[in-house]
Amino acid sequence: MDKCSFCGRPRKDAYLLVSGISGFICSDCIEQAYEIVKENSKAAQPKDNKDLNLQKPKEIKEFMDQYIIGQDEAKKALAVAVYNHYKRLSQKKGADDVEIEKSNIIMVGETGTGKTLMAKTIAKLLNVPFTIVDATVLTEAGYVGEDIESILSRLLQAADYDVEAAERGIVFIDEIDKIARKGDNPSITRDVSGEGVQQGLLKLLEGSVVNVPPQGGRKHPEQRLISIDTKNILFICGGAFDGIDKKIAQRMNTQTVGYSAAEKTEQVDRNNLLKYITPRDLKSFGLIPEIIGRLPVLTHLEPLDRKALRSILTDPKNALTKQYIKLFKMDDIKLKFDKAALEFIVDKAIEYKLGARGLRSICEAIMTDAMFDLPSADTKEFTVTVDYAKQKIDNANLQVAQC
Ligand code: ADP
Repeated sequence: MDKCSFCGRPRKDAYLLVSGISGFICSDCIEQAYEIVKENSKAAQPKDNKDLNLQKPKEIKEFMDQYIIGQDEAKKALAVAVYNHYKRLSQKKGADDVEIEKSNIIMVGETGTGKTLMAKTIAKLLNVPFTIVDATVLTEAGYVGEDIESILSRLLQAADYDVEAAERGIVFIDEIDKIARKGDNPSITRDVSGEGVQQGLLKLLEGSVVNVPPQGGRKHPEQRLISIDTKNILFICGGAFDGIDKKIAQRMNTQTVGYSAAEKTEQVDRNNLLKYITPRDLKSFGLIPEIIGRLPVLTHLEPLDRKALRSILTDPKNALTKQYIKLFKMDDIKLKFDKAALEFIVDKAIEYKLGARGLRSICEAIMTDAMFDLPSADTKEFTVTVDYAKQKIDNANLQVAQC
């Protein structure tokens, strides 16, 4: 009678029995063996920090330059923070009393200026677990929405459930401004998605051991929890902070009243007040001081001007136009964009006030018909002229204006 050479299970009791040269193995034993192999290969992986992809800040910035236009200040701040993150991970305990603490980052900039892109680009470069979470879905435990711990569940998933790896990972928290306290005064009614969430987040930013449901979602009493120490996890926060320019202006006005006030205001770049942002403005916006204290690196992103938008269309490594050219090339069609057509796309993005985010929807509106028709036509070359672009946009005007 055929039976598993490992556990002795007869064929009739096994789901599957695989035969070898001189024996058999059942599906249960295969699964068990696979688990053993997986565990061992994990243990065999080098855990020390030589394994980290250590790059100098200049190299990190150069890498970002390939994908992101402008935003030099934010790139520098991010490059230094990430580099120091690596250094902190490789510091030897007990050598001296100096312990490098982590410097979490907060990036402030209008939507569509590249905050998420920056975080994603950094992730490409690193080989530490990385995850992006949206602060808008977070609520205090017990309310509809996601618990704060879900942030760590995601990181754990990104780390393939390797706790040690997750503990040196990077988390990008998007839309951090959406959990600002509404109004400057502590609210009388409960602020489920504001201050309470900030308090919860504070625990993570400070560094503490948090019990995390491995699959995410709500904590159930019967669910096994995994402890994660957040001491070495780097947090990068981003937000548009709509209206913070007014708070900055207010602060600057009160500061400049009096001696030499006129002279100072003249030098102020009124169109881009974000570059004067200080932690105090974040407080006026509604972030609690403890959170601000745990985000010591404050940097801003510049609004994208015409030149930047034009460059975003063609220059980055995976620029929009390059993506369309590649798509068409797969059908052996040589795609070209006239310079005037590119300028027109930028004009429209500015007109619709959609920033870089709008470039994509405008390009889609222009390209959809060509992408539909040309693969079944005999065309081997196609040029997007300004007239063609105008005609397609006029037809699609409504959809673009609404997005
Ligand atoms: P944010 O997170 O600031 O709202 P995103 O990073 O999501 O903005 O940007 C939206 C899209 O716009 C990106 O996918 C990218 O294609 C483009 N983009 C925005 N800023 C830049 C930039 N500085 N350089 C290149 N592309 C950019």
